[in-house]
Amino acid sequence: MLFEWSQIDRVFLDLDGTLLDLHFDNHFWLEHVPVRYAEKHGLDHAQAKQILHGKYSAASNSLNWYCVEYWSRELQLDIPQLKHEVADRISVRPSVESFLQYLHMHGKRVVLVTNAHSASIAIKMNKTGLDRHFDRIITSHELGYAKEQSAFWPALRNVEPFDVHRTLFIDDNFQVLDAAREYGIKNLLAIRKPDSRGADKQHESYVLLDSFEQIMH
Ligand SMILES: [Mg+2]
Repeated sequence: MLFEWSQIDRVFLDLDGTLLDLHFDNHFWLEHVPVRYAEKHGLDHAQAKQILHGKYSAASNSLNWYCVEYWSRELQLDIPQLKHEVADRISVRPSVESFLQYLHMHGKRVVLVTNAHSASIAIKMNKTGLDRHFDRIITSHELGYAKEQSAFWPALRNVEPFDVHRTLFIDDNFQVLDAAREYGIKNLLAIRKPDSRGADKQHESYVLLDSFEQIMH
């Protein structure tokens, strides 16, 4: 067994790529935004992709990367509207609903801890209804740091006090897991296949879950 449930009283869960299929976000940023950006600025598709690649790289690992308002401004596109256009691709990963029910049945406090912007969360919760399963939803935007940043974790502890030994954190982003580990969170799990149409991930030090069924015992 990876950990003892009796030693865990709180579970922090990431949203995109952990509870939801990352296919939506990958499709949105890598396929849909380039189409609309090319239309808006009179570019061909390859040019649009190249320009966007540069803009994405410059913003990665910062709160801006996750900020709908930043991208609406930077790209001069209505990002929430564009998300609505492809919202039928939003989907919950396998066994997520039963895992969330399992956590509640066992008396765990369940907190969504996400870098997603509130506008994105609203679209995704409206589509999936997952919000009813959380005791609390915390976004990095309200704390002022992305989860990848070391300052995020003490800021989280200020608003949601937790014991690093009695908290389980599950996320598909290794840089986020590194920051959580450096802060001292002991029970960490990663996701093998965040995007159902993408490749399996590999990591030498994190356990990668193939399914939440593995930890429902
Ligand atoms: Mg994620």
